[in-house]
Amino acid sequence: MNYHILTLFPQMVLDGLHTSIIGRAEEKGLLHIEAVDIRDYAENKHNRVDDYPYGGGAGMVMQPGPVYGAWKALADRIGKKPRLIYLTPQGRVFDQAMAEEFAREEDLVFLCGHYEGIDERVLEMIVTDYVSIGDYVLTGGELPAMVMIDCISRLIPGVLNNDVSAEFETFHDSLLEYPQYTRPEEFMGRKVPPVLLSGHHENVAKWRREQSVIRTARYRPDLLTKADLTEKEKELIKTLDFQQEL
Ligand code: SAM
Repeated sequence: MNYHILTLFPQMVLDGLHTSIIGRAEEKGLLHIEAVDIRDYAENKHNRVDDYPYGGGAGMVMQPGPVYGAWKALADRIGKKPRLIYLTPQGRVFDQAMAEEFAREEDLVFLCGHYEGIDERVLEMIVTDYVSIGDYVLTGGELPAMVMIDCISRLIPGVLNNDVSAEFETFHDSLLEYPQYTRPEEFMGRKVPPVLLSGHHENVAKWRREQSVIRTARYRPDLLTKADLTEKEKELIKTLDFQQEL
């Protein structure tokens, strides 16, 4: 996977992404991350890339020319026009299913806005996907691009040491993951559930599935409509009463 990030703050994204699991994946050659500085395509000697909004209003708007220039130079250099994701609070909200879809691409371009956003005309010309990371407003698209790249990269074979771990975790099957425990067996009087120490794989799997269903019903009941539940699990959910625990 080749990620190309069009941004006014290349160092911010490179510093963040060259760390830990994603950084190691790049060292192993499983993915490549490049940041293109939109300011390099400024069309004036002061390197300005923003201007006042037509019609008035607060803040500045990124001009279309430098954004188009950065994208065009990239497309010419790599000889293709990959999907271009504009990070925007107005986009479709990113989720695990979208990450799985994007992970199948060979190249992805991320366009990070700043200030009040980017001139609409260049967006109409180059953007293929408008994506938000949630219903709140940030100062720039850099953190959202990093969030998406982190999430998509975990799905690329070889990036996680244990490839199955991405397959069974939260949001897979629209259920939250079961609780996890490690050593010691007892921590400040709290014991690890005995079934996890039993070595009985079938019982462990059964317990984990049940815990996933219970957790989802408790914390994210909205997900249950999409989950593939057995009749027994649906009955179990009806018996749960979280009010009593509060
Ligand atoms: N004026 C814009 C609006 O109301 O839609 C918001 C601009 S925001 C202050 C500046 C940039 O941050 C946006 O162009 C976008 O790239 C990024 N951004 C902010 N919140 C975001 C979110 N929730 N998801 C993705 N990108 C976001």
